[in-house]
Amino acid sequence: MRTINFYSGPSLLPNEVREQLALGVIDYEGKGFSIAEISHRSQTFLSILEELTHLVKTLLQIEQTHEVVFVQGGGRQLFAQIPMNFLNTTETAGFIDTGYWAHKAMQYASYYGNTICLATSKNEGYNHIPTVDKEKTKGLKYVGITSNNTVFGTQYKTLPKVFCPLVVDMSSDIFSITRNWNEIDLAFACAQKNVGVAGMSVVIIKKEFLATQQKNLVPVFSFQNLIEKKSNDYTPPVLSIYSALLTMRWLKNLGGITAIEQYNAQKAQLLYTAIEESTLFLSLIEKKEDRSVMNVCFYGANNKIEQDFLQFCEHHHIMGIKGHQEALGFRASLYNAQTLDNVLALTHAMNTFEEKY
Ligand SMILES: *Cc1c(COP(=O)(O)O)cnc(C)c1O
Repeated sequence: MRTINFYSGPSLLPNEVREQLALGVIDYEGKGFSIAEISHRSQTFLSILEELTHLVKTLLQIEQTHEVVFVQGGGRQLFAQIPMNFLNTTETAGFIDTGYWAHKAMQYASYYGNTICLATSKNEGYNHIPTVDKEKTKGLKYVGITSNNTVFGTQYKTLPKVFCPLVVDMSSDIFSITRNWNEIDLAFACAQKNVGVAGMSVVIIKKEFLATQQKNLVPVFSFQNLIEKKSNDYTPPVLSIYSALLTMRWLKNLGGITAIEQYNAQKAQLLYTAIEESTLFLSLIEKKEDRSVMNVCFYGANNKIEQDFLQFCEHHHIMGIKGHQEALGFRASLYNAQTLDNVLALTHAMNTFEEKY
């Protein structure tokens, strides 16, 4: 029996991806070797990288405008690598603080240049997406935002308007929602939510923005260099890359981002409705349009209810719904690979629990 998994990352892989990945580790396409056992310079691996890059570009429809590169490391590494590439001590980057990750990204950038916080919803417990005066973004090197606030469960449905380049941490909602890529100068996402196995990140950079990169960077961190080398300068994390290819094929077969977007909306609707209709559980997100479709955060009416429900879930093979240490309560992650059946199992558990209580 497969556990009903709501972890926020690493998180559920699509069944198909999980199975094909396991096969690839044992015997890649029946060729008598593991995908983990071959040179990253071999034609087999070059083809994987090429197909993956192509699929990412076509799924996002950014073939002409943006470059795509895969780098070692996760989200935090990009919090440093982006200012390393695009910010110096005479320049300022602005950040919109929607919670944990947005805040951390700003802290990391301050090692490389000046930073300012343009808006924050911290005093209200990050229960909404704060608005920003566009005028304040004039003259900034870039504005950094987190499209989906994984920890507190808010999400930008449309991106903020700014007068400078926009850098977006899409770690927890890339490939799940249609975005206007004209507005996005750089986006990145660690693999372990909507892309595949942890160990790398995908970075998407508008060509004009890439041209503004700092000079004299160490090659291993230079986006221009890594793009030139087609994500194959140092040895890439091969299993993570292969898992990403399998996920992109899976997504394409489903009908791409517009198809998964509808499915995701259905899952989120089901769970938010269950929370609204319940007398034991509640959501703290102020406005419906700010609610995350990917990470549904909710709370029990009191501490005892929360403890009891966690135990109840454990008995029913539901795992990973405990909230982040900064947000507490519950969090159910409904990434692309999450199934409607799993969400139904959770809402059913909530109803049964409430009847018994
Ligand atoms: C998960 C996540 C990260 C992750 O960073 P790691 O350093 O790979 O653990 C960064 N940003 C957001 C928005 C996330 O959800």
